[in-house]
Amino acid sequence: MIHEILPVGPLQCNCSIIGDEASHEAVVIDPGDDIQDILALIAKHNLRVKQIVITHAHIDHVGGAMKLRAATGAPILLNQNDYALLKMLDMQAAWVGMASPGKVEIDQSVAQADTVKTGALVAQVIHTPGHTEGSVCLYFPAQKKLIAGDTLFAGSIGRTDLPGGSFEKIIDSLHEKVLALPDDTIVVPGHGPLTTIGEERESNPFLK
Ligand SMILES: [Zn+2]
Repeated sequence: MIHEILPVGPLQCNCSIIGDEASHEAVVIDPGDDIQDILALIAKHNLRVKQIVITHAHIDHVGGAMKLRAATGAPILLNQNDYALLKMLDMQAAWVGMASPGKVEIDQSVAQADTVKTGALVAQVIHTPGHTEGSVCLYFPAQKKLIAGDTLFAGSIGRTDLPGGSFEKIIDSLHEKVLALPDDTIVVPGHGPLTTIGEERESNPFLK
């Protein structure tokens, strides 16, 4: 598996570029900004982007999606429970002091237990409401890797005080779905350093 993690934009959202070494097909997760840098990495590995997956509809994760779609032709995937948040991108832009990316069109909804196939790579969609209603994580079981969006961070969890947020729901999502994964699963959070399920199970103060 080719895996580049690139912090993008003023909020340094971790954008993942994940490619299949044999077919050179790729999925890009959370292209929030800095699309030229993302395209440079795609070109460096000679990848063809097949899907653009958005873990949730916050501007720092979705802001560059339309530019990346225009450059690659790949469809944009998002859980439908976050479609309402997409309509608030102008407001979100004002909150964080970014330029609005304009209208973002979703090509396909992804839901719990869907699979995203990229060449020989298979990711399972885990719906983890809490940070937003439509938050999802992508789990690659063969590689034991979780792209967690803003649901789980090293030593912390996603904030739940924004529209659509629910502390109760994020705690349920974490205990019922995320902590069900093996301890040696590598977690790539939406911001900040990598961690593992075991490390978070052991020491994350929100999961005690
Ligand atoms: Zn977020």
